[in-house]
Amino acid sequence: MPRGITILGSVNLDHVVRVPHFPEPGETLTGTHYEVFHGGKGANQALATARALPASVSCDALLPVHFLAAIGQDAGGRALVQALSDDGINTDHVLELSGERTGVALIQVNAEGENCITIVPNANGQFQALTSEQAGVLARTSWLLVQHEVPHALNLAAIRQVKISGGQVILNPAPMRDFELSMLTDVDILTPNETELEALTGIPVSDETSLAAACEIIHQAGVPTVLVTLGARGVWLSQQHEDGVLIPGKTVTAVDTTGAGDTFNGALVSQLAQGTSIKNAIRYAQAAAALAVTVAGAQPAIPRAPDIKKFLE
Ligand code: ATP
Repeated sequence: MPRGITILGSVNLDHVVRVPHFPEPGETLTGTHYEVFHGGKGANQALATARALPASVSCDALLPVHFLAAIGQDAGGRALVQALSDDGINTDHVLELSGERTGVALIQVNAEGENCITIVPNANGQFQALTSEQAGVLARTSWLLVQHEVPHALNLAAIRQVKISGGQVILNPAPMRDFELSMLTDVDILTPNETELEALTGIPVSDETSLAAACEIIHQAGVPTVLVTLGARGVWLSQQHEDGVLIPGKTVTAVDTTGAGDTFNGALVSQLAQGTSIKNAIRYAQAAAALAVTVAGAQPAIPRAPDIKKFLE
């Protein structure tokens, strides 16, 4: 059986409603444009990985993409998982937790386009231990991609399993949460944005000198490679014992940057797992993320391999 890519992480149903203004305590508001979108960093990154792989690789299952997650006993969660499966992702080991609901994000968007978000982890928070089948998938994983929307102990158990089996690990430390640098020893690549890097290291990041100093702290914690995503400016690549370098991104007119980081991480692992060099994998992932910000929404905006390739030419 070929060794593949595994994404372990969250599943959320994003309930989005437009409101004239954010409600005051006790106020009842009438909203408009209510919609439910599929989301969660884990699900978004799994989709970005699968879509970024060339059909020749994914169709022949040379590089299977597994998604490990937990949903509740509800139709919304099942539909989300089915959509991932329709995009070629192996969802055989997504758990349906009895008595739980799928994670939700309640998002209010006001007339100025600002948002207020409440996340209820639900099943994501109750996903506390790996099943033996999930551990088996991890033992056959060449690259694991994880984020911060499932319990930390679960991430650590998955990371440990992959390292024991000789695989490599990318941690996207988003969203930011309390976190000990000592937990990074088994991480091969860390992909924070500037805010996350600052919170992790305590170093305000404003220029290349401060970026290098903050990355050095992460290297000292045992992580050989740090990729700091800098929005439209691109990515700062820092490899242990080498000078950091800025890899500029593609210039586009951004419409909606939601999910740019998720698209970047998924496309990145899709390339590294095919043996692409780190710099070329970053260039490909930046092209994918730049394309994603030109389209509204998170999952609908995630591009496919032929479009990414064409954009890179
Ligand atoms: P988010 O939380 O919004 O998903 P993030 O803060 O994790 O994103 P960013 O640094 O904003 O991550 O974006 C990730 C990558 O996406 C960037 O490194 C860049 O390659 C690409 N990107 C983001 N915004 C733009 C933009 N306006 N134009 C071109 N590329 C962009």
